[in-house]
Amino acid sequence: MRYNVAVLGGGPAGTAAALQAARAGAKTLLVERYGFLGGNATGALVNPWMGHAWADPHTRQPGSLIGGIFREIVLALRARGAYGAPCDRAAFDEQQLKLVYDTVLAAAGVTVRLHSLLIAAQIENDRIATVDVFGKGGAQRVAADVFIDATGDGDLAALAGCSVAIGRPADGLTQAMTTSFRMAGVAKAELFADGNLRAARSRVDPLFQAARQAGRLHYPYRDFVQFYDYPRPGVLHFNMTRINRVNGLSPEDLTRAETEGRRQAAVLSEWLVREVPAFRSAWIEKLACHAGVRETRHVKGLYTFSHEDVAAGRKFDDAIARSRYFIDIHSPTGPGFDHEVPGAKGAVRASYAPPPNDWYEVPYRCIVPVGLANLLVPCRAFSATHEGAAAVRVMATMTALGQAAGLAAARAATTRSSVAEINAVALRRELGYLDAPPELGEPW
Ligand SMILES: Cc1cc2nc3c(=O)[nH]c(=O)nc-3n(C[C@H](O)[C@H](O)[C@H](O)COP(=O)(O)OP(=O)(O)OC[C@H]3O[C@@H](n4cnc5c(N)ncnc54)[C@H](O)[C@@H]3O)c2cc1C
Repeated sequence: MRYNVAVLGGGPAGTAAALQAARAGAKTLLVERYGFLGGNATGALVNPWMGHAWADPHTRQPGSLIGGIFREIVLALRARGAYGAPCDRAAFDEQQLKLVYDTVLAAAGVTVRLHSLLIAAQIENDRIATVDVFGKGGAQRVAADVFIDATGDGDLAALAGCSVAIGRPADGLTQAMTTSFRMAGVAKAELFADGNLRAARSRVDPLFQAARQAGRLHYPYRDFVQFYDYPRPGVLHFNMTRINRVNGLSPEDLTRAETEGRRQAAVLSEWLVREVPAFRSAWIEKLACHAGVRETRHVKGLYTFSHEDVAAGRKFDDAIARSRYFIDIHSPTGPGFDHEVPGAKGAVRASYAPPPNDWYEVPYRCIVPVGLANLLVPCRAFSATHEGAAAVRVMATMTALGQAAGLAAARAATTRSSVAEINAVALRRELGYLDAPPELGEPW
């Protein structure tokens, strides 16, 4: 089978890439190892959308820095009553997200192949000629003019021999993994009596600290309570398990992460039911299909996005995304966050965030790997340092990177040019929203 564009991996980046490539006229294939699309947003139960949030400096009216396909997905979720919880506007129902992706990709004419794992790449000169994807029927070979690595881990780039780094430079350790879970049957009216998330967490946190101190709860994995509202009655989303010193590329480590993440979820939820009144009738409604992996490979690209780009609020002529999300590092070794002001829980160090009322941009060159003429890497493995990646890795920005890659790949396939030759300034213009002020008000 031959395609103009083949996208490997169907997470926030890959779905947007395939959708945009097909809409730009490319015969497009999307390959995904699981039986549904959405990547971490659906499989790892990651919620809410982050990376797009903006507030007008004068009025504080909320808005979004990211438009395009991300906006379209949000609107589709909203139309299904699946976006925006009273105390967390960016929360969404991931089951409906699966349906949204199925619908929009089918309408755009993308060929989707689920239950298919990328396992090999064949290189000719400076191009990927074909890749092998493995399913129940065995391996199949796929040819394409341009390939997009949206596996999150940079699997295709690694198989194709690109230069990659793993984790932080000093010791190669990566951000912690987390098994997300949901609790249902929560008395949300009681918990959110003040109408905001911070106040709800502060009702539970002192009980959490006291139980730990008194030895009634052994939970050294996180040092404060972190749950989110979810757009369904009685349901809350938890991002509170923490598995350190695991490599997301090792099946042995992943096995340990899965069992340990589920065990921590059980310990925490049992304590909540036992001691926190709003949880007295609650239960674990869902454990993520798999432990969430925050970091593995960083592929070497034409530009390496870094800590300085975030802190300076740097702008680029060839920008393909913008964000004011901070450098969010779940400690690779302990319960805390590397971006925190020491001794001030939850406070982000100034140098780990863009300047106040400003944003940074991500250049196209970050998704163009060094050495191959027909590969783009717009996923979590895009070219960045450990710190730079920690800011851009979230799902709204990944959707933006994916959309840009889809457009660039379709153009490169049509013009038979290399991905590095794409006029990225024109690409930025064509993406549209990057030169407009942030959109304020609904649906954000
Ligand atoms: C626990 C956790 C909490 C997070 N919290 C938030 C949050 O609150 N808000 C937020 O916006 N972001 C959050 N993030 C970050 C965000 O989820 C990811 O960085 C983002 O999903 C990356 O998007 P992606 O498309 O690059 O990769 P992924 O979402 O990982 O998607 C990659 C896709 O590729 C598929 N795939 C992988 N390898 C292969 C292969 N070899 N062959 C075929 N298919 C393959 C996978 O099955 C998957 O569908 C969190 C991440 C984690 C782990």
